[in-house]
Amino acid sequence: MNTTDEIRNQVISLVRNFVKKDVLPVARKYEYEDNYPHELIEKMKEMGLFGITIPESYGGMGLDYTTFATIFEELSKGWMSLTGPIGTHHVLANIIERYGTENQKQRFLSKMAEGEIRGGLALTEPGAGSDVQNISTTASKSNDKYILNGTKLFITNGFYGNAFVVATKTDTKIKPAYKGISCIIVEKGSPGFSVAQKLDKLGYRGVDTCELIFENCEIPAENLIGGIEGKGFSQVLNALESGRVNIAARAVGVATAAFESAIKYAQKRESFGVKISKHQAIQIKLADMATKIKAAKLLTYDAALKMDLGERSDLEAGMAKLFASEVCGEVTLEAMRVLGGYGYLKDFDIERYYRDAPLMIIGEGTNEIQKLVIAKRLLEKYSI
Ligand SMILES: Cc1cc2nc3c(=O)[nH]c(=O)nc-3n(C[C@H](O)[C@H](O)[C@H](O)COP(=O)(O)OP(=O)(O)OC[C@H]3O[C@@H](n4cnc5c(N)ncnc54)[C@H](O)[C@@H]3O)c2cc1C
Repeated sequence: MNTTDEIRNQVISLVRNFVKKDVLPVARKYEYEDNYPHELIEKMKEMGLFGITIPESYGGMGLDYTTFATIFEELSKGWMSLTGPIGTHHVLANIIERYGTENQKQRFLSKMAEGEIRGGLALTEPGAGSDVQNISTTASKSNDKYILNGTKLFITNGFYGNAFVVATKTDTKIKPAYKGISCIIVEKGSPGFSVAQKLDKLGYRGVDTCELIFENCEIPAENLIGGIEGKGFSQVLNALESGRVNIAARAVGVATAAFESAIKYAQKRESFGVKISKHQAIQIKLADMATKIKAAKLLTYDAALKMDLGERSDLEAGMAKLFASEVCGEVTLEAMRVLGGYGYLKDFDIERYYRDAPLMIIGEGTNEIQKLVIAKRLLEKYSI
């Protein structure tokens, strides 16, 4: 799947215009009020952004991962929260597209591409985040249904989304434990499924991150991804490759926005009779920031290209997510320093970038776990 330069440029120019005209003027207000941006989401639906990589045969735009990453980068330059509703949604789409039955693809993908069904991944639990194998949500089969019991936490799109791929244990005794994990699509309105609370967050505000509860929740057995039990662990891990590329691209976008604010400010603000951009201390900060962002960007688009070539990309996606998110954390703090006290005020966007950055370090697998994944792959690759 490769998108022509012409189509990519058209899509990116559309997204840039949207960010400039519709997002930037209102982002700060939505963010402080922690309000879900319904109007912006409607525009994103019209632009086809809920079906970026969904194949055209299922009503999506069928764009490649390079374009996908660029869209996430551009949106994040405006307001990173806007990537939330489409990020985890594409992880769900990826799982259905790669592993779903034809019936599941027909039922979900075209409605997902239109944004009529908006979804997410429900993996994390109160007692199990990094330790995915230790999840305790269960699904027991009863005739043509699965009965789900358990709680999921930190679920993006939890309130406004209407379909989730839920990681459950269909076998609690099997060893190793990951062989007992299965993925089941759960739709809102299913008996026994409720949203318990919307979480109050440091950043990434406006987007709904929720606790989901399943109490004897009845789901048709045909919603088991691919119709095979015990494959959920690898289905989720593989789909998270696209998630890591989207997180890396968000980090590049937020870091770029912070850097651009800082370099503009440095050429206006004066101290000791000169613009602060004349001080070498500030110049060194700007050079370090720009160099790190460039490196993060190269890693991100290298991982996206691997995905476009259909090659295994877990190593590259992990490295991109790890490096870009750490750079984003560093750059947003450095940019705040360039703005001095003003960077600490809510009147400037820098403090929002600074609050948004840690999400990229923690989400889609923490960076500590990312390093373990990278090391595992390297040891396989260089095994003697
Ligand atoms: C805003 C937000 C949105 C999210 N959206 C979703 C979502 O849509 N769907 C979803 O399923 N999840 C989501 N998450 C959850 C996220 O993926 C988890 O928070 C993350 O995987 C970490 O899990 P945890 O919070 O339980 O931390 P823990 O696993 O308890 O980790 C705590 C600390 O210990 C470290 N640690 C744990 N194990 C090891 C180890 N073996 N070696 C070294 N260090 C280790 C971790 O790196 C971390 O520093 C979201 C989280 C946030 C904050």
